[in-house]
Amino acid sequence: MSDDQFKNVISHAKEYGYIFQSSEIYDGLSAVYDYGQNGALLKNNIKAYWWGAMVQMHENIVGIDSAIFMHPTTWKASGHVDAFNDPLIDNKDSKKRYRADVLIEDHVEKIRQKIEKEVKKAEKRFGDSFDKEQYLGTNPRVMGYQEQISTIMNRFVKAMEAEDLADVKQLIEDEQIKCPVSGSMNWTDVRQFNLMFGTQLGSVAEDATTLYLRPETAQGIFLNYLNVQKTGRMKIPFGIAQIGKAFRNEIVARQFIFRMREFEQMEMQFFVRPGTEMEWYETWKERRLNWHKSLGFDIAKYRFHDHEKLAHYANAAADIEFEFPFGFKELEGIHSRTDFDLSQHEKFSGKKLQYFDPELGENYVPYVVETSIGLDRMFLAVLSTSLQEETLEDGSSRTVLNLPAFLAPYKVAVLPLLKKDGLPEKAREIVNLLKFDHMVQYDEKDAIGKRYRRQDAAGTPLCVTVDHQSLEDHTVTVRFRDTMEQIRISVGELPALVNEKVALSTQLEKL
Ligand code: ATP
Repeated sequence: MSDDQFKNVISHAKEYGYIFQSSEIYDGLSAVYDYGQNGALLKNNIKAYWWGAMVQMHENIVGIDSAIFMHPTTWKASGHVDAFNDPLIDNKDSKKRYRADVLIEDHVEKIRQKIEKEVKKAEKRFGDSFDKEQYLGTNPRVMGYQEQISTIMNRFVKAMEAEDLADVKQLIEDEQIKCPVSGSMNWTDVRQFNLMFGTQLGSVAEDATTLYLRPETAQGIFLNYLNVQKTGRMKIPFGIAQIGKAFRNEIVARQFIFRMREFEQMEMQFFVRPGTEMEWYETWKERRLNWHKSLGFDIAKYRFHDHEKLAHYANAAADIEFEFPFGFKELEGIHSRTDFDLSQHEKFSGKKLQYFDPELGENYVPYVVETSIGLDRMFLAVLSTSLQEETLEDGSSRTVLNLPAFLAPYKVAVLPLLKKDGLPEKAREIVNLLKFDHMVQYDEKDAIGKRYRRQDAAGTPLCVTVDHQSLEDHTVTVRFRDTMEQIRISVGELPALVNEKVALSTQLEKL
């Protein structure tokens, strides 16, 4: 997808009430966005899909809703006060600020693309007899690129682990990484920058305590681990899920809702017996990928990326990357967090956070496998992939938002063919028939063709048209967004048809 197409996604999102820039009349607030009338509905539907798949479909997963504010010691224990930093670097000519790790990863991605190019060329040359594995393992040029990538990444990981920021800068210089804006290599030193937002609790300055806006929802789950385990009589393995806001003072906030300073996460912590975490890690990688694939988008748009540099709490981590309009990027993380968090909270709080395993007859601090997805990123993945410009048989074109029907904001638009002869009244009857189960829109303005196009672009999967015949025989025309096919059915059949096409339950059954 080109830059132009991405711009198109952004302007479409605004034009159809999906996403607005926050505080737009004051020229906006950087990396903060509001969801409009359609966006709020789409977002809720994505949440419902996640919650349904995680909580409703699993007997051993329950959901909570913990507060954004937490005791400040939480973030000391979790390591966020000391280690939730990004390395930043400025270009002195463009005055642009970058994340040093992102500059290096983008550079490595360019080398990866060179490999891809070579592979494509070879595929063409060798045809059916092409063996990719063999080619990757023997072609000197490709092996050279691979060697280059691992040298860079090893050095970067080592430098970050040793907190040797001077070497990170040196690496950027040695690799001749240039500022994408100025094209120069006139870099400042690399510095660490903590991403948490601080604020004050209490009205009197002397008594005030510094609080942080949570940078992840997970800690609210860890602090409630024992409450939920005991009151829910949960037996290991079990999970706690949560959807909620998180805040990060991102250094570079670009790419629309991909990287925001206020965003929403859907996280699940799965508590397991120590030693079984790798099995569960693999299980959750598979289940989560399956959740994504069930949406029916091109499966070539997903890939796993195993972490080379592990976070301070993890013993294994992978991202599910999605091909956004600006390339493959992290959409969801699956992390094996060991017993790090619960042990730390035991240490800092002095309270035991253990589980008595009746089968083993012993107490232990459970290990944790986490799945963590950004709701806004998921929203962007769905929106950008669904927006299509189609050329029709007669040569004309239409803009259509091919949202999976169960995610669409409005499921049905009811359209009286004319604004008279009792057709609006009949159409209102149909709205009243469906509105208790579904989001239904009534639209009588403009010619019918124009109304269809408007609903296509807004993503409404079904249009129901009421005409003069409807008054006589109680039938209506149903038009399908994706195929533009039209069928005539009786009003009595309508609720079952709509349900079949748009119900979340049908989607959950596919998992
Ligand atoms: P990145 O490397 O892109 O900064 P991360 O590895 O820091 O992401 P995690 O801490 O693993 O992200 O957070 C879990 C999920 O939360 C991510 O997979 C992503 O979908 C989402 N997320 C993280 N930061 C943001 C943000 N600033 N805006 C929107 N979503 C985010």
